[in-house]
Amino acid sequence: MTDATVRIGCEHGPTRDGHPLARAEKQIFDAHDRRAAKGQRVVADGAVCPACWSAPESARVVFVLKEVNHDGSAGLDDLREFLRTAEGLGPKGRMGATWNTVARWMELFEAERAGHPAPAVDALEQIRVTPATVRSGRLPALNRLCVVNLNKGGGGATANAVRLTLAASRDATLLSAQLALYRDARLYVCGGGDVAEIVAGLDLLGPLLPLSAWREVGVSIGKRKARARWTTTAWGVPVIAAPHPAARKSTRELRDLMVACLAAIEPALGPSAGAPRGDHRR
Ligand SMILES: [Zn+2]
Repeated sequence: MTDATVRIGCEHGPTRDGHPLARAEKQIFDAHDRRAAKGQRVVADGAVCPACWSAPESARVVFVLKEVNHDGSAGLDDLREFLRTAEGLGPKGRMGATWNTVARWMELFEAERAGHPAPAVDALEQIRVTPATVRSGRLPALNRLCVVNLNKGGGGATANAVRLTLAASRDATLLSAQLALYRDARLYVCGGGDVAEIVAGLDLLGPLLPLSAWREVGVSIGKRKARARWTTTAWGVPVIAAPHPAARKSTRELRDLMVACLAAIEPALGPSAGAPRGDHRR
């Protein structure tokens, strides 16, 4: 339960339901509820705070992820509330490695949007998503998060590729309709190559090239190369196939790879606040 003396979330407070974007999300989740089997849970997701996500200064990123349960949100029915208030967790509850990575990537996206240099590794490592930091209001970027899971039912202890594909295929129309709500996005990030494969294969963001034809971005990490891929939607918005945010990778690797992706997609990305169109920032 939340402590009423602590301000939670953003200045908009829990007013999500009155926002047109939230009303549109609700219609989609009502449809999910109607078609779910009896007793099958549906975990709502989308924009944590629609007003914050839609704000002009927002980086307006949409994360497409697999399913809940790996992220500490097992048993909840609304991922947006989980990210806004750490609903259902005690002060020592764990929120899952996914959210640290997502919050750190958000810092990179917001720095880019503001025309600032990318934060360094140690600055990013200060960012930890826990019930305490969520409720403290010290992670305002969480309010500007938008997360769309392919499997609204959540899964078991491990993400099963077949189950994920089946769930996404069954719900493809509703997933496309939900993603279409965020057409103002500047960037879509698929958490994992398998997610990108499903998004492309089911035309969830309109027709995309097959993943194997997306452009590659690589950075050297020691003797290895870390890789990601990217393409653009038919309306010109970049889509990145990133590593899964819960992958056991160093902050340096996750940072450097996403910085390289941002550099690669820069011509396709809307202008940042600090750089008028045509100005090549480095
Ligand atoms: Zn807000």
